[in-house]
Amino acid sequence: MRVTFYGAAQTTTGSMHLVEANGKRILLDCGLYQGHRKEAFEKNRNLPVDAASIDYVILSHAHIDHSGNLPQLVRQGFRGRVFARQSTTELCDIMLRDSCFLQKRDLEYVNKKRRRDGKRLFEPLYEESDIDALMQLFTPTHMHEPREIARGLTLEFFNAGHILGSALVQLDVKSDHGRNHRLLFSGDLGQPNQPILRHYEYPAGADILICESTYADKYHPSADDVELRLERYLKYIDRHNSKLLVPAFSVGRTQQIIYYLNRLAARGRVPRGVKLFIDSPLSRKATEIYAKHREVYNDEARAMLAAGMDPLTFPGMAFIGTPEESMALNDAPGPMIIIAASGMCEGGRVLHHLKHCVSDPENIILICGFQAENTLGRRIVEKRNPVKIFGDEVELKARVEVINALSAHADRAGLSDWLREVKDNVRHAFAVHGEPEKVTAMAELMNDLGVKNAVAPAPGQTFKIE
Ligand SMILES: [Zn+2]
Ligand SMILES: [Zn+2]
Repeated sequence: MRVTFYGAAQTTTGSMHLVEANGKRILLDCGLYQGHRKEAFEKNRNLPVDAASIDYVILSHAHIDHSGNLPQLVRQGFRGRVFARQSTTELCDIMLRDSCFLQKRDLEYVNKKRRRDGKRLFEPLYEESDIDALMQLFTPTHMHEPREIARGLTLEFFNAGHILGSALVQLDVKSDHGRNHRLLFSGDLGQPNQPILRHYEYPAGADILICESTYADKYHPSADDVELRLERYLKYIDRHNSKLLVPAFSVGRTQQIIYYLNRLAARGRVPRGVKLFIDSPLSRKATEIYAKHREVYNDEARAMLAAGMDPLTFPGMAFIGTPEESMALNDAPGPMIIIAASGMCEGGRVLHHLKHCVSDPENIILICGFQAENTLGRRIVEKRNPVKIFGDEVELKARVEVINALSAHADRAGLSDWLREVKDNVRHAFAVHGEPEKVTAMAELMNDLGVKNAVAPAPGQTFKIE
């Protein structure tokens, strides 16, 4: 069999690995490469494989860097099946449509300028109709149920504990000639002990291991004080009758924050009258999908359910629908928490809330996710005054608080813990999903733990495995 690393090789996004075995061509993930606009556009448009030649896609989870180029694959001729968990399928349906919408809005802006300059206009990577066609190809696949997807190729999903629906992919290859193999692909490995989701599992017996490296060289701070800090912020906004604004990713982070707030409320730690608004249509849909799939909850979330408590709600919580309702929050009275997308403050409704909030020292802006360089979120964290919002320079006077403990990825400790348990039979190990220094750190970690010949593959590199 052969494995080729087309995406997330020496970089973090664009997860895509081709497995060729028993005459079948299988993609592990088909993610969107995210980077500078023009380079990203070219990379995503020019698929490294002939789409029509692919038999199956096995999808680890719904994040766009793993699923976001699937509609393009369909547009270019893929007609095979996509194996994913049911919750991943549902999340893909809303996230890909949101991604399509954002791409189009972005292109409108770019093309306006290109038209003025007499340049060729860019076309979107894909249309809604490609997503419709793609959704027909999804084949929901349960965890812990081995499924023979083709002769001698058996797929089984295990829990990855990263976001709702995230899976570790195990593929058994029974060969007519040569040796049998068991491939294990981590997708994105979750941080242990995060709220709502169950801990990742340790599937045994793999001889081929493909593992992510996002935080291979870092340790996350402890999440022990998250509730205590949230409680302090709530008291502060209650005292000042002001706002706590939380820019957050719609899938995963938003639900984590609701969960923490709900736990505080259950213990009577939330001042009366503090309201919670979730201001993003995507967040509303994602929260509904999280609420629907209670079968994946961890023990603590299940115990809450058993006690008659919904872990994903909060007294007086409201979802904001229209842009007008969102704008109306600007002048609404009372202490309130607003959770709005996008997580890095690069677009979406969080922008007008920021514009309205940042100059008042009585408001708090809570940053609780990764902020890439050159984003407004990063400039707020670094308190680089003034900040530019909608083209206007605004003085940043609000309190800025940062919680770094809520990552959805395992850190070096989590990755080491997982590797120790799954490594015993591994003969071929590959570090992916990280910038060069991360994948190098991961390959070294693997070697330190006794996995021989671990490598960080170059983009497009093929490995023949006998
Ligand atoms: Zn992910
Ligand atoms: Zn990822």
